[in-house]
Amino acid sequence: DGRVHLHLRLLPYSEDLWLLVARDVTQLLHLERMRRDFVANVSHELRTPLTVVHGYLDMLDPEDHPEWATALAEMRRQSQRMARLVEDLLTLSRLESRDSLPEEPVEMAPLLASLAREAAALGQGRHAVEVRDEAGCDLLGSPQDLHSAFSNLVANAVRYTPAGGTVRIVFAREDGGGAALSVEDTGPGIPAEHIPRLTERFYRVSASRPRESGGTGLGLSIVKHVLGLHQARLSIDSRVGHGSRFTCHFGPERVRMRHDGPVAAPA
Ligand code: ADP
Repeated sequence: DGRVHLHLRLLPYSEDLWLLVARDVTQLLHLERMRRDFVANVSHELRTPLTVVHGYLDMLDPEDHPEWATALAEMRRQSQRMARLVEDLLTLSRLESRDSLPEEPVEMAPLLASLAREAAALGQGRHAVEVRDEAGCDLLGSPQDLHSAFSNLVANAVRYTPAGGTVRIVFAREDGGGAALSVEDTGPGIPAEHIPRLTERFYRVSASRPRESGGTGLGLSIVKHVLGLHQARLSIDSRVGHGSRFTCHFGPERVRMRHDGPVAAPA
C-alpha cells in the first residue's frame, strides 16, 4: 500500500544521550501477510475436493465389498484427519488475521458443563472427569474462541491420558484479581525440554504418536493465539509419569463478576 513500516527502539546511550534505532520491517510484514494468505487459500481450496471424496466414500458400503473393508475404513479415517487439519488451519488463519475481539460476556457455568460433556464423550467414559467452578465470576471476550481453546486442552488431556486416569477442569480466581482455567490430567507428562516449544505449529513430543492420537498438531497453537487475543497467558506444568496441567491466566480486565449487571426484564 506504499506505506513504510518502521520498528523503533529507544536505547540509553550515555548520561544525556539516547539512541533511536529504526528498522524497516515493511518487507517482513509483507512476506508474513503473503504466508498467511497462502495458508488460508490453500486450506480453503482443499475443502471442496475433500467434501467430494467424503461423499463418495460414504456411498461405498463395505458389506458389498468385504475385500475392501480395511482399505475403506483407512481411507475414511485419513480423509477425516485431513478435514480436521484443514479446519484447524482455517481457524488459525482466521485468528491471525484478527486484531480485535468482541467484549462479550463468556458465561462459565454452561461452558464448563459443556467441556465436561466433551471430555466424557471423547474418552468414551474411560476417564474420571471432574469439574470445579470456584471463581464465582465469568469472563469477557469471544465465547466461541475461548470455547475452542479450552476444548483443545480438554481433548489433549483425554487423548494423552490412558483409560482409568482423571481429567480435572478448574476455574478459579487468582491473586491480583484475575481468573484462571486449568485442565489437569494424570497422563504421561511432558519432559521439560519440550514444554517451551509445544505451542509451535505441528510440534510434537513423540514423532510416532500423531497418527494414533487423532490430533492435528495445531491444537496448542490455536490455544496460544486465542489467549493472545485476550491478553491472556498459557502456563504448562508437567511431571513425567504423573501428569500435566495447562492453565489459561486471564487478567482482571477480563473478569466479569456474576450477578453484577442489571437483570434484563423478560420481553
Ligand atoms: P496434537 O494435535 O498433536 O495434540 P497439540 O498442539 O494439541 O497437537 O499438542 C502438541 C503436542 O503436545 C502433542 O503432540 C503432545 O505431544 C503434547 N501434549 C499436548 N497435551 C498433552 C497432554 N495433556 N499430555 C501429554 N502430552 C501433551
